[in-house]
Amino acid sequence: MLANTCPECNGDLLYEVSTKHFICKSCGLYATREQLDDIRDRLRPRRKGSKEAEYLEWWMSKK
Ligand SMILES: [Zn+2]
Repeated sequence: MLANTCPECNGDLLYEVSTKHFICKSCGLYATREQLDDIRDRLRPRRKGSKEAEYLEWWMSKK
């Protein structure tokens, strides 16, 4: 994944060296590199504890 793509809208990110923040030109997201990684983690589908995994567990336990 490109480092300079907004995790929320896929827009272009500008890096502001003075504040070490990324700014999205499309949606106005303003975040540090660490915060961007956090957001990407949260938006990433199919990870442990996801809704799908919980549903599968519930479905399996019914049998
Ligand atoms: Zn954006």
